[in-house]
Amino acid sequence: MAKTTHIAIVSSPGYTHLVPIIEFSKRLIKHHQNFHVTCIVPSLGPPPESSKAYLKTLPSNIDTILLPPISKEQLPQGVHPAILIQLTITLSLPSIHEALKSLCSKAPLTALVVDVFAFQALEYAKEFNALSYFYFPSSAMILSLLIHAPKLDEEVSGEYKDLTEPIRLPGCVPVMGVDLPDPAQDRSSEIYNHFVERAKAMVTADGILINTFLEMEPGAIRALQEFENGKIRLYPVGPITQKGASNEADESDKCLRWLDKQPPCSVLYVSFGSGGTLSQNQINELASGLELSSQRFLWVLRAPNNSASAAYLEASKEDPLQFLPSGFLERTKEKGLVVASWAPQVQVLGHNSVGGFLSHCGWNSTLESVQEGVPLITWPLFAEQRMNAVMLTDGLKVALRPKFNEDGIVEKEEIAKVIKCLMDGEEGIGMRERMGNLKDSAASALKDGSSSQTLSQLASQWECFSGNC
Ligand code: UDP
Repeated sequence: MAKTTHIAIVSSPGYTHLVPIIEFSKRLIKHHQNFHVTCIVPSLGPPPESSKAYLKTLPSNIDTILLPPISKEQLPQGVHPAILIQLTITLSLPSIHEALKSLCSKAPLTALVVDVFAFQALEYAKEFNALSYFYFPSSAMILSLLIHAPKLDEEVSGEYKDLTEPIRLPGCVPVMGVDLPDPAQDRSSEIYNHFVERAKAMVTADGILINTFLEMEPGAIRALQEFENGKIRLYPVGPITQKGASNEADESDKCLRWLDKQPPCSVLYVSFGSGGTLSQNQINELASGLELSSQRFLWVLRAPNNSASAAYLEASKEDPLQFLPSGFLERTKEKGLVVASWAPQVQVLGHNSVGGFLSHCGWNSTLESVQEGVPLITWPLFAEQRMNAVMLTDGLKVALRPKFNEDGIVEKEEIAKVIKCLMDGEEGIGMRERMGNLKDSAASALKDGSSSQTLSQLASQWECFSGNC
């Protein structure tokens, strides 16, 4: 009988960094049964209920070690969520090391796979004679930016956002400096330094597993594989998405039952990820825009906040529906449904009455939309979402991007215009067709195509390393 191959995984705090790396583990053990995965989970404050519920559903050959949470009091107040995530990992390093030591005392470790924020943990691989990998939960285009960041840092003077020409990353659609991820918007910031440091660590690993697939990003993936004569071993294994988790069974049922009553392809699903928020002013404009468009909609609403990522690590307890313009729910009751904070997104996108997705373009939402063949309206808020929006609109041409005015607001007329164009216009038809093709490519990549073959190759390399050739 083949020996068991042991893999350890280190996630980073936040539901949307935990789920994709564990879904990757599930896929690995489903197709390669002699693997055992231990997932080491750092957290900022007690792990959220959604994460705990999700971890309870794992099969027996995936173990989890929940590390002692880092308390919020140990961290600075009012800083960007990316800094909080990074600091949580830094403070968790001793317990990550302890967890690895205890694992290795029971069985030799073949590979250590760390989420991109947990890059400092990668150095432990050597100590425990294991191979080292990054799990990159975003696009190849973002990875390309990261890989080229040290060079860009040397070559470009001033802020990227002031550049008048787009940045051309090999094999990627050109991107303006203003659309680069948050950390690259202020080069004097601490978060930018972390960004460049992470970039340097990436190329030292034995490989990078990435949640994308060849047919979606052929240019970027090939260019990365050719970078400095194959310096990076890239393993595109996506699209890996969750199969649908829900926080509130009643609310989930409500959404799906309402969708059952709508005509095919008629509903615009509106959602800003697990924690994206809009200002009160923007909520008012969006409500008016939805109303003006006369299209059907399912809107996942959160209480307003002027900082778009405010609810990412900590949700507001206020009832969001009280922040809608007066009379809105009554006036739109024949056309729309507004739900508080959370909807069963994967099931919603897979429902045949959903025909469009107004999204903040988080990478998981993007991949879920691709897997269900739903074209998008892009409404990026923070992190790397603007770059995802550029890929979806200018590159893949499966999305429309509304214009923000100089105060950073999308006005109601603009909202209504893009909604009508996507849901009811010629342009929308072309987008839906292209998205349909991408959906088919995603399914084949996972079934027996590019991503499935890549995962098998990787699994064989790991088995060989553990003496199971
Ligand atoms: N999600 C969901 N219901 C919601 C909002 C989000 O199920 O109402 C899930 C969504 O399916 C996706 C994840 O939360 O898997 C959001 O991840 P993404 O990378 O798109 O954005 P982030 O939350 O990291 O900003």
